[in-house]
Amino acid sequence: MNSNYDLEALKKRGFLKARQEGFFTLRTSVAAGNYQARHLLALENIANKYARGFVHLTVRQGIEIPFIKAEDIDKVEQEVKAAGIKTGASGPRLRATTSCPGNNWCKRGLVDTFYLFRRIEELGISCGLDLPHKFKIVISGCPNHCTRAETSEIGISGEVDFKSPDKKIGYVVYLGGCGGTAPRVGFKLGKIFNLEEVLLIVKSVVTLFKVKAKPRQRLALLIEEIGRDKFLQEIGL
Ligand code: SF4
Repeated sequence: MNSNYDLEALKKRGFLKARQEGFFTLRTSVAAGNYQARHLLALENIANKYARGFVHLTVRQGIEIPFIKAEDIDKVEQEVKAAGIKTGASGPRLRATTSCPGNNWCKRGLVDTFYLFRRIEELGISCGLDLPHKFKIVISGCPNHCTRAETSEIGISGEVDFKSPDKKIGYVVYLGGCGGTAPRVGFKLGKIFNLEEVLLIVKSVVTLFKVKAKPRQRLALLIEEIGRDKFLQEIGL
């Protein structure tokens, strides 16, 4: 790799420029944050071979390897792919969807968060999807909201519908949260949804954001611009 790095293209490939000249950080992602032992062995090997022998755990359940030399990026990318690990996203695109264990093993979990994660990915809504600005989805298995449902563009959590005769388990959805320099708390939609309804909401919101948001406009600001009622109408609610 020559020294005229295309930083945007490298970001899309999961390599972020470090503040130290000539070094990059590899960002990885795997489904719902579930790294297999073989993934960890491959990343250990890469960290030892091409970097400084340690990794960093991100808040979005990714593993980063800092201090990779620019000239090693292509080789590292090949080894990461061969190990079945995806690279993570940065820049104007969908970030890794974070998911707590839900009812897979957490004793409080009400819903299968990993299944919901897979169903969202099957819609083509997966880490790295190009969008006008960064966009985050989080999934929590119960109202404890361990993945902070209110602070991302789309936050989903399992909840008991106490109003239904058989106390069905469904999902609540929060929209329009974000961090950054202009943080916003997402607002909660006014009913408990079933899985298929949640998938429709996710698809509609991401599609609308892709079409209507301006570059560098977070979902919260798009909603403020067009008005919450109109926004909800446009996503079919
Ligand atoms: S949100 Fe609920 S299900 Fe998920 S880890 Fe927290 S307590 Fe467990």
